[in-house]
Amino acid sequence: MSFSLKSIPLHDSFLKLGEHFLSEVKPTPFKQESKLIHFNQNAAHLLGFEKKIEQDPLFIDIFSGNQSLQTAKPFSMLYAGHQFGYLNPQLGDGRAIIIAEVHNHKNEKWELQLKGSGLTPYSRDGDGRAVLRSTIREYLCSEAMFGLGIPTTRALCITGSDDEVYRENIETAAILTRLAPSHVRFGSFEVFYYRQQYEHIRTLADYIIKYYYPELLAKENPYLALLTKVIKRTAKLIALWQSVGFAHGVMNTDNMSILGLTLDYGPYGFLVNYDAGYICNHSDHQGRYAFDQQPNIGLFNLSCFAQAILPLIYKSPDKAADMAKQELENYQTIFTSNFANLMRQKLGLEKIFNEDQQLLDELLSLMQKDSVDYTILFRRLCEFDSTEENKNTAIRDIFMQRNQFDLWAHKYQQRLKQETLSDKQRAIKMKKINPKYILRNYMAEIAIKKAEENDYSEIDRLFNLLQNPFSEQPEYEAYAGFPPKWADDISISCSS
Ligand code: AMP
Ligand code: MG
Repeated sequence: MSFSLKSIPLHDSFLKLGEHFLSEVKPTPFKQESKLIHFNQNAAHLLGFEKKIEQDPLFIDIFSGNQSLQTAKPFSMLYAGHQFGYLNPQLGDGRAIIIAEVHNHKNEKWELQLKGSGLTPYSRDGDGRAVLRSTIREYLCSEAMFGLGIPTTRALCITGSDDEVYRENIETAAILTRLAPSHVRFGSFEVFYYRQQYEHIRTLADYIIKYYYPELLAKENPYLALLTKVIKRTAKLIALWQSVGFAHGVMNTDNMSILGLTLDYGPYGFLVNYDAGYICNHSDHQGRYAFDQQPNIGLFNLSCFAQAILPLIYKSPDKAADMAKQELENYQTIFTSNFANLMRQKLGLEKIFNEDQQLLDELLSLMQKDSVDYTILFRRLCEFDSTEENKNTAIRDIFMQRNQFDLWAHKYQQRLKQETLSDKQRAIKMKKINPKYILRNYMAEIAIKKAEENDYSEIDRLFNLLQNPFSEQPEYEAYAGFPPKWADDISISCSS
């Protein structure tokens, strides 16, 4: 079954929570003509939209904020958040408006959110807008993450206009239609904790459990079970990030999804040369959100969330804190076992040996010393020849200290002898976890530069390429190579 814009079934479950949780606000249309910059057919399918929905004249009107979707009442969500370690008690969607909640043919709930659609009661000093540049970055990366099999918000389309937006330079305005089963964040709970509005914490937790974790209703303490779930999902998500070399850049608690989705793509970056301390956000002077800090920050953020729901966990605050602490102690174990598993798969190891960790650490340390490209190395490693010494020149050549690599390769060869798969069989499996294509900053930059001149072809090319990051796509071979020299100078800040 598929639906038109007029017939798609809508609900208002979040809206019904009422004014303590949100503010009703309408999107502000662009001043100048709106245009559809890119459209994601897969996302439209996910929502249950009929084919060619983007050609309906209503489509551009709705997704550029000119018109409402049926009788849906748009709103922005309230939240707080720990930003760079400090509590900001009052945030909220400063430039995002949820225009509707779709329940698709599979009875899945999807919130349709326009990001960059004008002022809201939570805009503070902001203008409520998003620039084309940041919109393209979020659009491409969220779909790339989906292609990589990593939980994420999705994106339906980008609309834009020639309206000017003032950042470090004058840029043009755009709107991203973001999709998520729920946009509720850790910060959505924190806001009520710091206001001591404990009844609202309960209402929100009950809502999240009812719609997203209904299995927890049967638990003795559903709120504690909610914490356990969120810890698990977050640990698994961050293990996936670390395995593909994804740095989020702004892991504030208002950017942490209660569903364990990657949320809010700002100054993110994928590792180029392996550097554990990689800082993708040029505004992050202390390196709080450096690549290798992400797992720890995940725990810090979960502690903030746990703190916010303490009043629900147990009447006595001390006992509640003890119970939460016990759950949080599992985080490291869940993260480590997930991460180790993923990395073992990246190395093509099916059996588990204690020495595997050392084998991995030695490789990473060599990669760090020689500034080896993370994605290219692991992809080439899929073709590792375990039968003969000195055959792996394509891999060896990436290193500067080749003797060091040879020593490592020898150990790896010995280790592979403990496995049952042939080199060929292992290569097939490894290529399903070691992507050939990732969204490198320079690729997004080219798409952005072209789009700023009204040429959207590169967005389309990257969009298609990144749907299947593990497949050989000979026509796109160039995107699998080393980045150009000028890519070193790209600087990505928070400004968006
Ligand atoms: P972010 O770091 O992008 O997740 O944003 C942090 C907070 O600032 C969120 O509450 C955003 O809604 C808000 N914000 C970011 N940019 C703008 C803007 N241009 N106008 C209004 N609010 C904004
Ligand atoms: Mg945010």
